[in-house]
Amino acid sequence: MPSVSGRAVQVTAAGGAFELVQKQFADPGPGQVRIRVQACGVCHSDAITKFGLFPGIAYPRVPGHEIAGVLDAVAADVPLFKPGQRVGLGWHGGHCNYCTPCRKGDFILCENGKISGISFDGGYADYVIAPANALALIPDELLDADAAPLMCAGVTTYNSLRHSGAKPGDLVAILGMGGLGHLGVQFAAKSGYRTVAIARGEDKAPLAKQLGAHIYIDSTTQDFAAELQKLGGAVVILSTLTNAESLTAAVGGLGPNGKLVILGVPDKPFQANAIPLVMGNRSIAGWASGTGMDSEDTLNFSALANVKAMIETFPLEKANEAFNRMMSGKARFRVVLTTGN
Ligand SMILES: [Zn+2]
Ligand SMILES: [Zn+2]
Repeated sequence: MPSVSGRAVQVTAAGGAFELVQKQFADPGPGQVRIRVQACGVCHSDAITKFGLFPGIAYPRVPGHEIAGVLDAVAADVPLFKPGQRVGLGWHGGHCNYCTPCRKGDFILCENGKISGISFDGGYADYVIAPANALALIPDELLDADAAPLMCAGVTTYNSLRHSGAKPGDLVAILGMGGLGHLGVQFAAKSGYRTVAIARGEDKAPLAKQLGAHIYIDSTTQDFAAELQKLGGAVVILSTLTNAESLTAAVGGLGPNGKLVILGVPDKPFQANAIPLVMGNRSIAGWASGTGMDSEDTLNFSALANVKAMIETFPLEKANEAFNRMMSGKARFRVVLTTGN
C-alpha cells in the first residue's frame, strides 16, 4: 500500500485562506483506513477549522466531516472493512475504546474522541486517512453526494429523534427549516410522528408539506409555542436554530413530559422559565451527532424511507465558493463538494 498523491483544500492558519495543494497521503497506520473521497458536505461546523474556534487545532488543516467515498487502503489489523467498499465518515472521528464512556458503550462521549477535519485532515480532499472504528458502510441505493450530508446533518437529526422518546403518532415539532431542519422534518414524518415544521415566512409552507410535515407554523405571524399548545403540546421539539430567544420561547410549546432537544448552538446563553419544567416534568437536552454505526443506521433508514437532503454541489477546487455559499445561509439546503474521483 504505497502513499498516494492527491488534491487537498487546506486552511493555512486560523482565519486564513483556503489553499488548494497537491500532497501525499500516507499509508494507513494501525487501526486506520484510507478513503478515496467522492463527495464531502460543507457544514457550518467547518467554520471551527476555518476560524480556529476550538483551541489547539494544528494548521495547515483540511476541513470536512461529511465524507462519502471508497476504501482505498485498509491496515492489516482492521477487521470488517476491505478496499473497494463504500464508506462514510462524519463528525465522530474515532474513539479510544478504553475510557469510562467507551467502556460503557458511549463512544460518542469518548474522552479521547477525535473529530474529522479538526483533529485530523478531513474531506475537502481526494483522500482521507481515518480510524476504521469511525466508519459507516454506505448502502448501494445512495449516491455519494446524497450520502455525504447524511453523515452530519442527517445523523444528528435522525439519531436525536430516535433517542428522543417520541413514539409514532406523537406531536414532534422541528424548529427551523434549514440544512438540519429540512432533514429533521423528513425523518420525523417518515418515523410516523405527527410532524410540525416551524420556520419564518408563509412561503416555506409548501416546502414543509412537500417534505412531509403535517402542520406548518409561520413563526413570523404566529406564536409558535401557543400554536403547539393548541395541538396538545409537543412531546419533542427539535431545535436546529441558533438564536437564544427561540429556545426560550420553545419551552412554552412543550406538552407534559415534553422535551426540547437542542442541536444548534445558540449565539449566547439562553434563559428558560423553570415553572413549566418543574410543573410538567418537562426537560431541555442537547444531542451530539452519532457514531459510525449511528450514521450507518441513518444511511440505511434514508435509503429505506427515501429521505434526501436538498443539495447544491460544487467541484472540490471551488471549496472557497462553496464554504461562502454555506456561510451566507442562502444555500438550499446543504452544500456538497464533489471530487470527480
Ligand atoms: Zn457538521
Ligand atoms: Zn474513549
